[in-house]
Amino acid sequence: MTDRYDVIVVGAGILGLATAWTLLGDRPGSRVAVVDKEHRVAAHQSSHNSGVIHAGVYYAPGSAKARLCRAGKSQLEEFCASRGIPVLHNGKVIVAVDEAELPGLAELARRAARNEVEGLRELDAADVRRLEPNVRALRGLHSPRTGVVDFRLVCRVLASEIRERGGELHLGRAVEAIEERPGEVVVGTARGELMAGRVVTCAGLQSDRVAAMTGDAGDERIVPFRGSWYVLRRPELVNGNVYPVPDPRLPFLGVHLTPRIDGSVWVGPNAVLSPAREGYRRGTVDVRDLADTLRFGGFWRLAGRYAASGARELVEDRSRHLYARAVQRYVPDVSAADLAAGPTGIRAQSVAADGSMVEDFSIGGSGRVLHVRNAPSPAATSSLAIARDLVDRLPDR
Ligand SMILES: Cc1cc2nc3c(=O)[nH]c(=O)nc-3n(C[C@H](O)[C@H](O)[C@H](O)COP(=O)(O)OP(=O)(O)OC[C@H]3O[C@@H](n4cnc5c(N)ncnc54)[C@H](O)[C@@H]3O)c2cc1C
Repeated sequence: MTDRYDVIVVGAGILGLATAWTLLGDRPGSRVAVVDKEHRVAAHQSSHNSGVIHAGVYYAPGSAKARLCRAGKSQLEEFCASRGIPVLHNGKVIVAVDEAELPGLAELARRAARNEVEGLRELDAADVRRLEPNVRALRGLHSPRTGVVDFRLVCRVLASEIRERGGELHLGRAVEAIEERPGEVVVGTARGELMAGRVVTCAGLQSDRVAAMTGDAGDERIVPFRGSWYVLRRPELVNGNVYPVPDPRLPFLGVHLTPRIDGSVWVGPNAVLSPAREGYRRGTVDVRDLADTLRFGGFWRLAGRYAASGARELVEDRSRHLYARAVQRYVPDVSAADLAAGPTGIRAQSVAADGSMVEDFSIGGSGRVLHVRNAPSPAATSSLAIARDLVDRLPDR
């Protein structure tokens, strides 16, 4: 094995893997390595998510999210179909349960139309009932081509094809420094240095720290938001994905019901500030992570803006009954007894110094190093299109 590469990708989540896979497909024979601090691929966000292949309903028309979600969805579906990875197009209904939510639903319908979401249909109360007999709503929006997939499996297949194409995976190898020298980049790890012509970083929850290694973190920091799910003991209550109208001021979609590829139904995720970027058990505190968040002025501005909704989420997070009550707004039959404790994920959300959440995907960097700085949902859906975008920014040699 050489320690000199054409391209080193930092991060073996879905974005890093998709980038290496795309590079090796475009430029067979190039020397590509993916380096991750964990001992397995997809250890963080890429295996702790809802598994939804989003159809592009929510995103501001013209944004990178709108463009790359649409392109990425079809590329991902084609990838899965040709590899026998199961995808279930179980559709999604977004429901407005009171008058106050109708303008929000109408805005989503407008966005979805401009984003050319396939098969989108506006529903009245009776239409919603026909699709989802246990859901109560005034009106809804149906996206029949929304689907679900196991993103962890997608990552495993990408990893094995990277190896088949001659790429290398260096797992259990944390990147500690990235230094540009004339004509090359030196990637410092606990197990020695690696050299590369170019470096692409896709470090998820650590993306601001990794960008800071080349002085490219800007004024944005990752603020980690934990999302926990319950598993619905009565999966027969829904046929497809059921979502509320999201709060337009928040980049999170609200607690929803997601039938998984394995037949289970997850309820969630909520969104509460996490005191650890990679601590999946409630109550885990990482002193460095917490101190970084509390030292960041943007966090305090954000907290001031969302004090009320943040406090409500925190209270609901502690109470199965309150969580059930949030779902009962649109699925009245769900009771606290129907909710079994489920898994947890942590979102890497970039926040600017003024306290605003960075909504769109963001890629930065200078010289020979490219950093993915903000890649929240729907980045898993969009992964192959984001990878294409990244690879197109790398010169051939
Ligand atoms: C709760 C939740 C629900 C979601 N639901 C959906 C959904 O339904 N549909 C959808 O499309 N998207 C969803 N997403 C978003 C999606 O999961 C992420 O956008 C996507 O997985 C990001 O991939 P990534 O490769 O950037 O990050 P990650 O998967 O987090 O990978 C980053 C990798 O970088 C590695 N790394 C970090 N620092 C270093 C270092 N110093 N050295 C070496 N390696 C390092 C980490 O170990 C990790 O493996 C959800 C996310 C969450 C958290």
